[in-house]
This record gives sequence, structure tokens and C-alpha cells, in this order.
Amino acid sequence: MDRRQFLGAAAATVAAAAYSPVETAAKATMTPAGSKDPKGILVRFLGTGAADWKGRDDRGELRRLSSVLIDNDFLIDFTPTDADMLPKDVHPTTIFYTHSHADHYNAKAAVELGIRQVYLNHSWYEFAVKDFEAAAKELGKAVPAITPVNIGTSIDVNGLKVTALPANHGTGHTFEQTMMYLLEKKGARVIYATDTGGIPSLAARIAGIDAHVKPGNPITGLIMEATMGMDHDIDFRIFTHSSVGLVERTATVLEQTGRYTPVDKGQPVYLTHMARTLHGTQAELDANLPKNLKAAYDGLEVIFKFPGA
Ligand SMILES: [Zn+2]
Ligand SMILES: [Zn+2]
Repeated sequence: MDRRQFLGAAAATVAAAAYSPVETAAKATMTPAGSKDPKGILVRFLGTGAADWKGRDDRGELRRLSSVLIDNDFLIDFTPTDADMLPKDVHPTTIFYTHSHADHYNAKAAVELGIRQVYLNHSWYEFAVKDFEAAAKELGKAVPAITPVNIGTSIDVNGLKVTALPANHGTGHTFEQTMMYLLEKKGARVIYATDTGGIPSLAARIAGIDAHVKPGNPITGLIMEATMGMDHDIDFRIFTHSSVGLVERTATVLEQTGRYTPVDKGQPVYLTHMARTLHGTQAELDANLPKNLKAAYDGLEVIFKFPGA
């Protein structure tokens, strides 16, 4: 039998896990015990750095490699740097990968963590299978189920719908299609966009926020990478990453055209995947970023509220 199980097949099922707050580098909005938040989609930033973070820097700052925990239930990307940011009693068994870069994807770390279900784009499925088989053998553990995903495919994880969107990003695998994700639950619609240079039109169209699509199905939250720092940096990463200015303009356009309607009026767009060499410290970002943007930090928790909740 073909080991590929294209989607439409069984959705992921993940055991509910209890939540226990952990100490964070800065103040975070902590939720009470319970794996899911009754008011919205809970996003915990485990890491908010780009690939050039290698531990604490000479400014005393630390960003782990980019990863998020959704609803205390499943992960998008995960590397060993993020392990200490997982709440103690949370044991995710499902992971979605955006792409194969080592600052997002680490098969050994996933197997070690106890991941049993992996979703990633079909374009690098064969490479991933080899990595996971090698990691499982080395650790003496079972190989997780690896499900190749197509752009536009939706997967239900315990009532939260995850849809694969195309990203504008390149890797060492020439034809790898990198991905971002749309998270939907009870009317809350949040895009997690890293790594990507802007929001590609096909991603916008699938999410229902493209200029060709009538407004009416707005997103209610946006997390977007800002690897490139402020707009004056000249850096080769510009081909496949976004800058603060690009995210600001994206947020403003979406807001002004009714395609971004957060439940909490003042809710900012959250920046992640910030490059060590192209950004100031968290305090500098807090002081200088445009009002509609907020730099996420490791350990930050955000609840993207359900409309009417
Ligand atoms: Zn990256
Ligand atoms: Zn990357």
C-alpha cells in the first residue's frame, strides 16, 4: 500500500493536555488551567527568532527559533531550542511544518518529543520520511505518521481547522513548496505567516482576503514574519522574507478594506521570526514599532477571540 495518505483521510486526534503556566522572559497573558481557552484560539509563541539566533546575544537578548503552540494542543514548527518554552504538562503529539529549513524543522526533536502525526507539504515528503526514519531508529522510537499536504487542504485537529496556504520562500530543495497556515475556530480566523516574503495572492485568495474576493470573510488575527527589520536594511534575505514596513502596509490595507477585523479593536498584528542582526531589542521594538504592530517574544501568549465571545 502506498504510504502516502493524502488528506481527506482521518483527521488528527490529540489527547487533551492540562495546562500549567511556565516562567517566561517577560509578562505573558496566562490562561487558567485547561487545555483550551473558551474565548478564542490560544497561541503561545515558543520561539520568535530567525535562523541567525544562536542563543543569548551580546545585548542580553534571546529569541529561540520560530515555533508556536496552538490551543495547548499542537505545534507549528519545532526545534530543540523551543523545548523549554513548552508548558510542563503539555505534550503535543501533532505538528505542522511550514518548510524544511533547520530553524523550523528537526525530525529528531519531534520524535524525542513524542510526536505521532506530522503534516508537511508533499513536495518534500520523501526527504522528511528518510529523516524521520533515521531519527526514530537512532532514538529507538516509532516513526510518526507523516501525511503529505497539498495547498488548500484543511485538516481538523480537535475542532480547530488548519488550512495550508502557499508561502513565498525558498529552500535547498529547489521545488519545495513552503507553507503558511490559516487557523479557524468558531469564527476566529488567524493566519500564521512565516517564512514568507509578503502574503502571496493565492494564499490571500484561499484565505478569502484577496482583492478579487468580496470582503465578508475577514481574518481576525495575523501573525507575520518580519525577518528583514526596518525597510532600510540591505540584505540578501529580501527575496524570501518580509520587513516591518511590508507587514505594516499589509495590515493597514487589510484593515482599511474590511479584510482584517480583530474582535478586540486594538489587537495588533504580531511580528515573529525576527533576525538577530536586523532588529533592535524587544524594548526598542516596543518603543519604535508602528502602533498596529507588536513584536512577539518567547513565552508570549495571545488569545485571538471568537467573535461574540
Ligand atoms: Zn526561518
Ligand atoms: Zn526558512
